[in-house]
Amino acid sequence: MTSLVWLRRDLRLHDHAALATALAELHAVQPVFVFDTEILARFANPRDRRLVFIAETLCHIDTQLKERGGRLLVLHGKAADIIPKLAAALGAKAIYSAEDFEPATRARDEAVKKALAPTTRFVQVLDHLMRAPQRMLKADGTPYKVFTPFYKLWRADMGPTDYAQYEVKDAGRYAKAPSSFKAAEGAGLTRINLDEGPAELLAQIGYQYTKDSLWRVDDVPARLSSFIENKLAAYPTARDVLPIIGTSQLSPYLRFGLVSVRECVRAAMEKGGGEKWIAELGWREFYAAILYHFPHVVTLEFNAQYQNGAIPWNNDENMAQAMFSGQTGYPVVDAAVRELLETGYMHNRARMIVASFASKDLLLDWRLGEEFFAQHLMDYDLASNNGGWQWAASTGTDAAPYFRIFNPILQSKRFDPEGEYIRRYVPELRGLSTADIHAPWESPLTKPANYPMPIVDHATAKDRAVAVFKAAGHKMGGEH
Ligand SMILES: Cc1cc2nc3c(=O)[nH]c(=O)nc-3n(C[C@H](O)[C@H](O)[C@H](O)COP(=O)(O)OP(=O)(O)OC[C@H]3O[C@@H](n4cnc5c(N)ncnc54)[C@H](O)[C@@H]3O)c2cc1C
Repeated sequence: MTSLVWLRRDLRLHDHAALATALAELHAVQPVFVFDTEILARFANPRDRRLVFIAETLCHIDTQLKERGGRLLVLHGKAADIIPKLAAALGAKAIYSAEDFEPATRARDEAVKKALAPTTRFVQVLDHLMRAPQRMLKADGTPYKVFTPFYKLWRADMGPTDYAQYEVKDAGRYAKAPSSFKAAEGAGLTRINLDEGPAELLAQIGYQYTKDSLWRVDDVPARLSSFIENKLAAYPTARDVLPIIGTSQLSPYLRFGLVSVRECVRAAMEKGGGEKWIAELGWREFYAAILYHFPHVVTLEFNAQYQNGAIPWNNDENMAQAMFSGQTGYPVVDAAVRELLETGYMHNRARMIVASFASKDLLLDWRLGEEFFAQHLMDYDLASNNGGWQWAASTGTDAAPYFRIFNPILQSKRFDPEGEYIRRYVPELRGLSTADIHAPWESPLTKPANYPMPIVDHATAKDRAVAVFKAAGHKMGGEH
């Protein structure tokens, strides 16, 4: 008898809640991954680096599985249809997967559950988060809307049992791959062949492979331990310095589950002195809980006061084009956008500067910025991205007060004092002195002709944003 372990945001074989739970039963286990056409429809770029990352990860997992007597079954199609068909074809007794908290994936999982034969159980376990959003409630049973009290509960009594590792004792426990593959194909499902490597894998689903040496998939434990050993202690201050890597850069690995959040918390707890970093993992869970309890944030402002046109958001295409191609004339803003386009990553401080500039200085609809990040971030996560943009636009939880608008020149001088970050990503400005680089238009004689003038005057734009928010009746303080 067989069980399926459906891998989604938990692309690893260690410390794996769904796999460990499946192995605790006596059935043979068949791991499966689906390239869900409903999700792929959002990936417009044929060379999307996230798909390269996933393809490499799946090949890596398959290699590990082969060593342990199993194989990964990869399918292509609409997951909500495929998974029940596969379960029927294999006569699966159960499907194990990690619980997902996004509205669309929750709906998909419900559809899968309904379509399963009564003899197949659908078992979901907590893996993606330390604490289930359903349990993160105030004393009166309502969800938190402010981070600090949420975090107090989240962090309270967190100890070794919370971050204990799920042991995966899988030797000899996998289903015979040839018969699983045959059953899947016999049921008319499109199986993706992993034998020829990631490039051929991607070709089968209509995407192209480009080697990406920035985001390797085979060195994740070393990345975590190197951060914990070398950078955790300095993290509270180094995390804001733009030109250095003062943070873990683990976000893509957490996003796709190559590392578990339990491993991260455990490593930081055991090392000690990692409270600030653990709090950032808390923000990740806070935004996941906000999305779970307030799914309207996907399209609307969290704060009802700003919904339905209360803020005259700008949808000007030329302005959006300048903003999201790194041509605003504000060097630190442009460096940040170009960092994202070049690497698939953007420093957290830079994300805040960019989101503030777009939503306040340009009054661009925060949804445009959110979508731009969604298309390019390696670590794109609906909950964190939406939370970050709504925070910067002052429409979300714990929102930045509307009158506290980042000054891009002061931010640049403070967090990139020598202009190193700017020089790295804005080659036109490499020849400028440190004195000139933060605001090149102030020195017309040295400003390179091929770098734009500022798209707006910050002081004027700031006054305009404050006036717009005031008119929308921004109320300050407390919970919304
Ligand atoms: C406008 C905006 C958009 C963002 N979009 C995303 C996104 O799509 N995906 C994403 O993972 N993060 C997002 N963030 C949060 C944050 O910028 C990234 O998580 C962080 O930069 C990742 O780098 P790191 O792994 O080195 O983080 P570290 O500083 O090492 O933090 C460790 C982990 O904690 C989590 N984390 C850290 N800061 C935050 C935060 N503010 N909110 C939620 N989780 C956090 C991440 O999982 C991160 O990997 C966004 C922030 C802003 C301001």
